[in-house]
Amino acid sequence: MMKMMMMKKITCPDCTKQLDLVTGCDHDYIIVNEGIYRRIKHEGRGWCPTCLACLDHTHHFGCETEVCPRCTQLVMDCACEVRGIIKAGNIQEAEDAFINQAAAVTKTL
Ligand SMILES: [Zn+2]
Ligand SMILES: [Zn+2]
Ligand SMILES: [Zn+2]
Repeated sequence: MMKMMMMKKITCPDCTKQLDLVTGCDHDYIIVNEGIYRRIKHEGRGWCPTCLACLDHTHHFGCETEVCPRCTQLVMDCACEVRGIIKAGNIQEAEDAFINQAAAVTKTL
């Protein structure tokens, strides 16, 4: 029974994948301030010690070692406004939302 408890897998709420030492997060893009950026992948040797993303794979969001692509500081420490992370397939959708948002803001000014 103890063994079963220890085998309990941790799941990322974004990609709903288990942190498995084989892959990383499939939400490869991050919305920071006014732009959509490609997230910076885990570049160290082996696995990310925090989120278990594999080399050359994207960190699961919330990982304290992820670097902000806008300012190149750690996402945890940087002053940018991180609005969320998205999959490659949702970029158009996100851009549309931003354009609409920008238009709405312009209108109210
Ligand atoms: Zn993930
Ligand atoms: Zn990580
Ligand atoms: Zn930043």
